[in-house]
Amino acid sequence: MIIRKTPEQIEKMAAAGRILTRCLQMLATKVRAGVTTAELDEAAEKFIRSQGAEPAFKGYRGFPGSICASPNSLVVHGIPGPYELKRGDVISIDVGVINEGWVADAAITVPVGKVDPEADKLLEVTRAALFAGAEQVQSGNHLGDVSSAIQRAVEDEGLSIIRTLVGHGIGREMHEDPQVPNFGEPGKGPLLEEGTVLAIEPMVNVGGPLVRMGDDGWAVYSEDGSLAAHFEFTVAVTPEGPRILTPWHEDD
Ligand code: MG
Repeated sequence: MIIRKTPEQIEKMAAAGRILTRCLQMLATKVRAGVTTAELDEAAEKFIRSQGAEPAFKGYRGFPGSICASPNSLVVHGIPGPYELKRGDVISIDVGVINEGWVADAAITVPVGKVDPEADKLLEVTRAALFAGAEQVQSGNHLGDVSSAIQRAVEDEGLSIIRTLVGHGIGREMHEDPQVPNFGEPGKGPLLEEGTVLAIEPMVNVGGPLVRMGDDGWAVYSEDGSLAAHFEFTVAVTPEGPRILTPWHEDD
């Protein structure tokens, strides 16, 4: 069942989203060779708590971090730790914030210094796929319109959308109905109505679309070891169209 939110509730989610946006923008400035993912995690937790909010991931099903930090062939759910970023890496940073009982979820993938053209293209295409999907988060559209827009944006560029990992509804819980696949058919799936709020999150491999689990029970890697990227927004269906509640692409 899709739990739709009132305009007042969407404002509360937007407040969580503003904290999350500032957190991601702060983390992006810290990404450089030699920084460990544990240091990014610590900075994120400190910032989120300084805003009177809580990191949504910390303790979620036992997850130990406040962020997921997923370099290179790690697609998502990387546990922050001693890994030191190095020049040429790409790193996905995923953050969740709970503020006054409402959750926001967003992710960016950032290059560490200069990266090779294949990595640049991966980031550009995955980011563009997210925007293409977000544009479809409109009253009267179906979920399949979002899914297919993402899939097309990725596959038209010769990259692989991962099919076994999906986005999700979001609100008082981090994961609500519906699941948001990153592939599908236009006009299919649940109707998007005013007040629906989705976390949409294309996850893309340079190589094939398959993934494998890491030994820690969290990390998800591209099966073939190719580079992966992940971008995510929390987006609400409003009368004015899609409203991105975690606008990390905008300047303050
Ligand atoms: Mg998510």
